[in-house]
Amino acid sequence: MDIYQETGKRGVTSNDITTLRRLLSSTAAAVFSPSDSGYEKTIERWSRAAEKPAGVTVVPSSTEDVAVVVKYANDNNIDLAVKGGGHSTAGASSTNGGLLIDLGGGLRYTNVDVKNKLLYVGGGALWGDVDEAAWKHGLATVGGTVADTGVGGLTLGGGYGALSGEHGLVIDNVVGATVVVANGEIKHVSETENPDLFWALLGAGQNFGVTTEFVLQAFPQGDMCIGTMLFAPTPENVSRLVAAVNDLHEVKHTLQGPKSKSQGRAMTLLSIAKPPAAGGQTLIVAILTFNGPESEGRELYKEFLSIGAIAETITMAPYTQVNKQLPAPAGMRSSMKGAAFVMPLRAGFVHEVLATYETFMASCDDAHGSLVSWELYDPSVVVHSDKGSFANRGYHLNNLIMPMWTQPVHDQKCRQWARDVSNMFKKEMEVHNELATEGSEGGMSLRGTKGAVLLYGNYDQYDEISKDIFGVNYEQLAKTKQKYDHGNMFNKLFAITPAA
Ligand SMILES: Cc1cc2nc3c(=O)[nH]c(=O)nc-3n(C[C@H](O)[C@H](O)[C@H](O)COP(=O)(O)OP(=O)(O)OC[C@H]3O[C@@H](n4cnc5c(N)ncnc54)[C@H](O)[C@@H]3O)c2cc1C
Repeated sequence: MDIYQETGKRGVTSNDITTLRRLLSSTAAAVFSPSDSGYEKTIERWSRAAEKPAGVTVVPSSTEDVAVVVKYANDNNIDLAVKGGGHSTAGASSTNGGLLIDLGGGLRYTNVDVKNKLLYVGGGALWGDVDEAAWKHGLATVGGTVADTGVGGLTLGGGYGALSGEHGLVIDNVVGATVVVANGEIKHVSETENPDLFWALLGAGQNFGVTTEFVLQAFPQGDMCIGTMLFAPTPENVSRLVAAVNDLHEVKHTLQGPKSKSQGRAMTLLSIAKPPAAGGQTLIVAILTFNGPESEGRELYKEFLSIGAIAETITMAPYTQVNKQLPAPAGMRSSMKGAAFVMPLRAGFVHEVLATYETFMASCDDAHGSLVSWELYDPSVVVHSDKGSFANRGYHLNNLIMPMWTQPVHDQKCRQWARDVSNMFKKEMEVHNELATEGSEGGMSLRGTKGAVLLYGNYDQYDEISKDIFGVNYEQLAKTKQKYDHGNMFNKLFAITPAA
């Protein structure tokens, strides 16, 4: 369907470009029409499949510039897209012929308040920028596991990272923000200032305005134990790895409350992939992050290490390296599809996923960069926080199914494979539900405690619908939407219909 039919917005005309240039002439903002050099860079996305030709791009230099542009788009009913780090694989930061605000210019910054351990982060910053700036002062905050992902989209949708086991989600560490809402007003938000907007922002933020600055709580951080282990995908290795994963990451209910052996200090990303260095072979890749010394890390991961990895790179490293471990090359046609799972993992299920992966690889040479990844950490801290409108908290964990390919002719096939694997996870949840012990969240059909479908929206921007992602919070979000964006300007990702 034509996007303008769906949203009732219009595309950009040459008059709009002229007017925007005039309105911004006394500022340092840049305005790019499709024929200007510099325009192409602004519509590039991490996934080529998410790119669309904007009618005009504005790269603002300040919050005030953003306010001028948002007000103009709103007053003139123009389709608007906002780009943070450009990692949405569903095209949520792109527009077909509308107005694009690319925050990657003057709003890509991180300022550190060392005394109060606060990070003032521009809405166009990338996580690598934040990691580097904070680390200079021995600090870190919860951020994404891939350094070139944007702070904007990742934070506004919840945000999981290597430190989530200790400090919760990214939104749990947001203490304030500056937002330009649809009518162009600049709002400062926190627990005490515009708290309704602050609540909405933390989980559904892309629907409420352009966040030009986040204020993030940071923590003292030292070097961490990190590394990769590569395993041949033999049945014996899979069984032993699954046993090791369950031993380390399954949350048990103890007298002191829910606890895993990793106690929130370890995260393991367990993936089925074909790492380029393995010459086309399928391997099981375990990337670990442990917040402590190497000796303790090796002890915690000793079951993994006893399996006999083909290669192992465990070492101590500065925090800035933690989020550079995952190879996630830009420029492919990549698509993210989410799934959820509960512990303990079942070896038989991992075998099934492995078999599906091999069949898909054999049928599509172009998709050899694809992976399926289980994200393992102790979610107890995430479960116990209740900040914001994010509705996906629970003891279930995230899985990521990511086909990566190059040719448009394979779009449908690759996306279908991701959907098929995601459905396998749904069925597996049902198996677990029958066997559920106290503390596990129940199957997909049962939904979580907040009525959402146990899926992380930032991993599943294609198929899920807003009411399922926001669960019981949808109604309040719709009221807040009516207050701040009744014309539904911000409508590109899990759109919310303003309450009547
Ligand atoms: C390689 C890779 C690794 C990832 N790793 C993680 C991870 O470790 N943890 C995790 O939680 N997620 C992760 N994700 C998912 C990630 O959270 C989403 O892809 C997210 O949308 C990326 O945000 P972005 O700013 O880069 O994307 P964009 O495409 O720029 O934006 C995504 C959405 O957010 C909106 N948006 C962005 N910035 C702003 C802003 N400042 N104000 C208002 N709206 C804004 C956009 O309009 C769009 O709707 C990863 C994704 C990829 C591709």
